[in-house]
Amino acid sequence: MAQKVLRLSPHRLNLYRQCPRRYHYQYVENLGRLYAKPRAYFSFGSALHRALRDFYRLGGPFRRPVEDLLALYHAAWQGAGFPSPESEAEARREGEEILRTYHAKHKHINSRTIFVERQPECPLTPHLRLFGQLDRLDLTAEGEYEVVDYKSGRHQDESHRIQLLIYGYLVRQTYALFQAPLNLTIYYLRDNYPQAVVPMPGEEERVLDEVKAVGEEILTAQHFPAQPGPLCATCDFNVICPDSAFRPGDEPLEPVPF
Ligand code: SF4
Repeated sequence: MAQKVLRLSPHRLNLYRQCPRRYHYQYVENLGRLYAKPRAYFSFGSALHRALRDFYRLGGPFRRPVEDLLALYHAAWQGAGFPSPESEAEARREGEEILRTYHAKHKHINSRTIFVERQPECPLTPHLRLFGQLDRLDLTAEGEYEVVDYKSGRHQDESHRIQLLIYGYLVRQTYALFQAPLNLTIYYLRDNYPQAVVPMPGEEERVLDEVKAVGEEILTAQHFPAQPGPLCATCDFNVICPDSAFRPGDEPLEPVPF
């Protein structure tokens, strides 16, 4: 019998590391369609991502005015998951400010967008495929290729760095054109701050080895242990997970955005 092939992305990898049980509910049992809840921070991030995606398709800040960007943002806004109309309005205004600042910072930069929102994928081992969701690839005014990934959350963490290293690998593996070293940038929208990710010697190889090890662990896992903690508060499966550290009606163990 043919052995199954596992598809892993940086997001799935991170989810598994945070809590294997949650990964199991989401990607082995596919229970997300039953338990997924609208979340304010997803709505917020999604509106920003979609606005920037569509804006760069039109030419981006060097070629189009900020009004176009804001119109796309308001068209993309869905506002699901907010606890009150006031908190939704506040978040919506914050998003608008972020995009105004973003546009002002970038309107004089003449880079060319090669593509937005692509999902490159390649084999890593005979039983493991790696994929990712790229926000944008640019050719900069200096003639360098740059992978840009937007983040709308408040936190910077190591998983973002790993994600960008994987994206750099995926771009080189998937698109023959981009074999030169790539610039990798995490763009923190709330701070309007671009964080360059410069791989250290051997770092990409170490990350890929780690992905292979996690993939092997998932493929051979007999059970997926729970890892209760602060993230249980925002886990869609806390209503069915017997080990959840959070129950509906509890106070979140850490502040939840909005
Ligand atoms: S509720 Fe907590 S322990 Fe249970 S699956 Fe979700 S994150 Fe894991």
